[in-house]
Amino acid sequence: MRQLTHQFINNQWIESRGQRRLAVMDPYRQQQLAELTAGHPADVDAAVTAARQALPEWQALGGARRAAWLDAFADTLAERREELMTLSATNNGKALAETAIDLDDAIACYRYYAEQARALEQRQGRLVEHSMDGIEARCYEDPAGVVGLITPWNFPLVTSAWKIAPALAAGCTIVFKPSEVTPLPENAVAEIAEAIQLPAGVLNLVHGDGEGIGAPLSAHPGVDKLSFTGSNAVGERVMHAAADGVRGVSLELGGKSPILVLDDADVEQAADWVMAGIYFNSGQICSATSRLIVDQSLAEALYNALAQRIDALHLGDPLAEDTDMGPMTSARQRQSVERYLQIARQEGLSAVRDASHRQLPEQGEFVAPTLFRDVPTDSSLWREEIFGPVLCARSVGSEQDAIQLANDSDFGLAATVISGDPERARRVARQLRAGSIWYNSEQVVMPEASWGGFGISGIGRELGPWGLSGYLEVKHIIGPAAT
Ligand code: NAD
Repeated sequence: MRQLTHQFINNQWIESRGQRRLAVMDPYRQQQLAELTAGHPADVDAAVTAARQALPEWQALGGARRAAWLDAFADTLAERREELMTLSATNNGKALAETAIDLDDAIACYRYYAEQARALEQRQGRLVEHSMDGIEARCYEDPAGVVGLITPWNFPLVTSAWKIAPALAAGCTIVFKPSEVTPLPENAVAEIAEAIQLPAGVLNLVHGDGEGIGAPLSAHPGVDKLSFTGSNAVGERVMHAAADGVRGVSLELGGKSPILVLDDADVEQAADWVMAGIYFNSGQICSATSRLIVDQSLAEALYNALAQRIDALHLGDPLAEDTDMGPMTSARQRQSVERYLQIARQEGLSAVRDASHRQLPEQGEFVAPTLFRDVPTDSSLWREEIFGPVLCARSVGSEQDAIQLANDSDFGLAATVISGDPERARRVARQLRAGSIWYNSEQVVMPEASWGGFGISGIGRELGPWGLSGYLEVKHIIGPAAT
């Protein structure tokens, strides 16, 4: 069994100062894959010190030179693509085809921020247009400093890429704490930093759980900015921690996103997009469109089309080519989803499909793909993020009702609109309160478009130029204009 006993600090693998051992699991085989020796707060201290020392030189290199390392990151990830896909599928439980999408997404992200780093250097010191005579103002964008990055387990190497790539491009130095659930693929981040000879201290990785490492990292006075992706409960704690010392924070939190099927939609096509929006990654997607809002004229036909597709989903070994849906990533997540299914039984919700309609695989942390119809809007299944393959549906009588119901949520991460008329779909999308809205599409993600949410789905945006600006401080230097 593999042992993960070292932290990556100042470009050295340092034996963890902590004593706690955490089991790293394969959620399909339900076997322990590795033993992780969690770090100690002293490891966090050492990592922050290394990052602080590395900051001035890394900043002074300028964006164009930093870009070379970002390209090298992408190249090395691409070289290790197949191996990391397998590692991710084994540790996370996601189907191999999904891990290919993840790896390609991460590679594209590092390449994109290499370009952004070059563009950043080009625009440093640009003159600002203004209307005052005899004065010039120049704009510079400096790195936010040492950043603490904390990620969840559902998209290993992707959520970390969305933070690490822009942070490096901006000239920040990093202390990264990946999820303790999926440390195996994430450890590759440090291995790659070492392989491409990133300057010492620029990227440090400390493994461990939330209380042991996440909390001390969030509270560390040597961290200038925190970027967190995960649950709302922990996000609030990170934000509280950042308040001490008035440190910056960006939060990518949960969602309860709607998918609207309007009365002019093609039902069969709509069913495909509805399926992709909720059962991909076994529903463990922050942007999962877990609230289906369908025009009443199409509801019965759509539920039938979905039932057929759910029955056809093949649940099984993530490494098998014919697997559509793997297990939940952990026993804990399976139990969390099952608690909602218990509530559904208590509330007498009407299941179009649930575990009673299929035989689950004999092994693995599986939850059956589930569809409830006519879910009351005050049910916790309608309102709370379940983070599993559970779709809740309601029918409505008009476009206006659909929009109103879609926006009736404290979350605002994502949404999808399906209509036979693309212009109508875009018009409806404009009225939705969410950061990413797809129409007549599955959830396409690209590094150029932003990611992040309204309301309690978070603060700030990742990806695109917005993702870079999250790691920059803007400054203007103003004085007499040269004559
Ligand atoms: P989580 O909040 O339990 O853990 C996320 C990370 O925070 C982990 O690394 C964990 O160890 C760490 N952590 C736990 N307690 C901590 C503390 N007190 N201080 C600092 N760090 C701490 O979330 P999870 O179960 O790993 O992931 C699922 C959640 O992530 C879902 O709510 C999902 O919506 C959200 N998510 C959001 C996005 C997005 O982009 N908005 C993307 C992926 C996942």
